[in-house]
Amino acid sequence: MGPARAQILGKELGIYTYADLANFFPFRYIDRTKFYKIKELQVSSADVQIVGKLTGFKSVKQKRGSRLVAQFMDDSGQMELVWFRAAKWIQDSLKLNVPYVIFGKVNFFNGAFTMPHPEMELLSDYKKGFKIMMQPVYRSTELLSNKGVSNRVMQKMQQQLFAEAQGKFSETLSEKLIQEQGLISKNEAMFNIHFPQSQELLIKARHRLKFEELFFIQLQLVVKNLTNKAKNKGFVFDQIGQYFNDFYKDHLPFELTNAQKKVLKEIRKDLNTGAQMNRLLQGDVGSGKTIVAVLTMLIALDNNYQSALIAPTEILANQHFNAVEELLSPIGIKVRLLTGSSKTAQRRVIHEELENGSLHVIIGTHALFEDKVQFKNLGLAIIDEQHRFGVAQRAKMWMKNTLPPHVLVMTATPIPRTLAMSVYGDLDISVIDELPPGRKMIKTIHRYDSNRLAVFKFIKEEIVKGRQIYVVYPLIQESEQLDYKDLMDGYESISREFPLPDFRISIVHGKMKSADKDYEMQRFVKGETQIMVATTVIEVGVNVPNASVMIIESAERFGLSQLHQLRGRVGRGADQSYCILMSGMKLTKEAKTRLQTMVETNDGFKIAEVDLKLRGPGDLMGTQQSGVLDLKIADIVQDSSVLFMARKAAQQIVYSELGHQDPDYKIIWSTFEKIMRNKSIWANIS
Ligand code: ADP
Ligand code: MG
Repeated sequence: MGPARAQILGKELGIYTYADLANFFPFRYIDRTKFYKIKELQVSSADVQIVGKLTGFKSVKQKRGSRLVAQFMDDSGQMELVWFRAAKWIQDSLKLNVPYVIFGKVNFFNGAFTMPHPEMELLSDYKKGFKIMMQPVYRSTELLSNKGVSNRVMQKMQQQLFAEAQGKFSETLSEKLIQEQGLISKNEAMFNIHFPQSQELLIKARHRLKFEELFFIQLQLVVKNLTNKAKNKGFVFDQIGQYFNDFYKDHLPFELTNAQKKVLKEIRKDLNTGAQMNRLLQGDVGSGKTIVAVLTMLIALDNNYQSALIAPTEILANQHFNAVEELLSPIGIKVRLLTGSSKTAQRRVIHEELENGSLHVIIGTHALFEDKVQFKNLGLAIIDEQHRFGVAQRAKMWMKNTLPPHVLVMTATPIPRTLAMSVYGDLDISVIDELPPGRKMIKTIHRYDSNRLAVFKFIKEEIVKGRQIYVVYPLIQESEQLDYKDLMDGYESISREFPLPDFRISIVHGKMKSADKDYEMQRFVKGETQIMVATTVIEVGVNVPNASVMIIESAERFGLSQLHQLRGRVGRGADQSYCILMSGMKLTKEAKTRLQTMVETNDGFKIAEVDLKLRGPGDLMGTQQSGVLDLKIADIVQDSSVLFMARKAAQQIVYSELGHQDPDYKIIWSTFEKIMRNKSIWANIS
């Protein structure tokens, strides 16, 4: 390849070396094992391949120049081949009445099948030549095709490369692992990914390369997790003492679910290893994360350490405070709340108590991150809804101690396991995957706007029964004005339908003053109003067990995780709860899938999986956090089973006693070192 083209190849596709080229995999294949007969032809976008003979040429005048038309026949019929350019040169280079293999797309034109600009090869050459069973198709760019680097040129380059390099790709996985996983060799995989010798070998090649790719990422994450643990020393909480035991024996308001017990065990183990705990606790809304947090705080207390619980909003901090205080005050533990609205005098007391160590449990917002807040011995930081807090803020808290506190991050936003494993691969993850018993499933239904009257009637019945109702409107930045109009129109029509004095309505939206919002919210919490009309400000937080109906307006405009979070506002009391998704008639396919998913399941993890499939990992995580979003061949949605196997294999090797010494694994570690040295490729793996 000449220097000009080579430069474009580098710039457009990042291909500079043989290795780059060999690792540039086709993104699809055209089956060339099948030959068609002319009488079988249909018009389709797929390429077909036919064996036959040219029987004659004619030149047809057209607006500019002329086109060359050739008659082509096999034993089943005949068709035309057409060239609009270079006609003379083509006619001279082709032979009549000898068998050719032709390949290309078929059109139907003037009552006959035609193939424009076919690829042609003499059957005798085809039989001798480099067998292409499945024709690879490589990703290209406009500039590349303009400069004549067509797919065919790319294939030729790969052929040339493999003519020299075939059999010389060094193995990256151990014999043992290859055996265990039933993989083909690196050499075989590399050849068959470019030139599959059969459908079966292509599947094996893809599997081998996907496994390899995911395996080395997982190996890196597992190693990082282990080194973090060795590096990040933490307090040893080896006492399970009076506070924990008393509470567990006499004050636990309910029996823990098996999932809660399992998670607690994982946490207890972490706290006793001498390494800092860094654990993500995932549990759907209502799965009972609070009690796990409280029990963990009691372990800290038994070991004479302070705990802090940090929530993203004041409302949420308030709620946590109420819940935790209710649990802990019966056993005589003082709990305090520190937020932006704490009075100065009160603040001063709290600061002092935290610094002299007389206060053991503090709950608050980011007011806790202020420099003025000094702990005597903070041993545990529990962070709610991690997506609201930056890692930097977390680190700031750690710095206040000689040793960092143990960190438990709680999130109600389920992250699919595959994604969590890859993005948070160096965190430990606990999942509460079971709801407390006796919880009634929230019934979810989808209604079109035209059914609104029936929905109003239903609301009325629920209110008469003493229930409360949420009506939520979307608020999306770009159309803010319109959104407020929707909200206010909706509020008006609800006010008309539900007039005073029988009905009272709260309204909360982002343009209100914070004090007014709180006032309206409190009226609803206290049951003074029966309907709460709101934008998504209520998304995180409020707990009103008596609210049993969630109506989501323009539900098609919300994302899945948002819909699920909103639905989680109801179903907190003893009554049957409902979620009604209102939408217009015209729905995109994706919107339909979202609404249907909500109707079909209450399981946050299933919803997250669908979300991942719809939006892809990059979109779901917000940022390019990890190498998983930039994979060469594997796909964490489609290849989740391969990912699980790769993860397990990596763990086995790292955690096995012999892992590092076992001669069988030598080849893996030397590949690993090469990858780590060549970090630039992997730099974006967090
Ligand atoms: P979340 O995970 O959303 O924070 P909470 O901790 O607020 O959930 O718990 C939701 C509700 O379930 C609370 O009212 C809590 O008292 C109750 N709860 C939690 N665990 C159990 C359990 N094991 N058995 C019965 N009720 C439970
Ligand atoms: Mg909670």
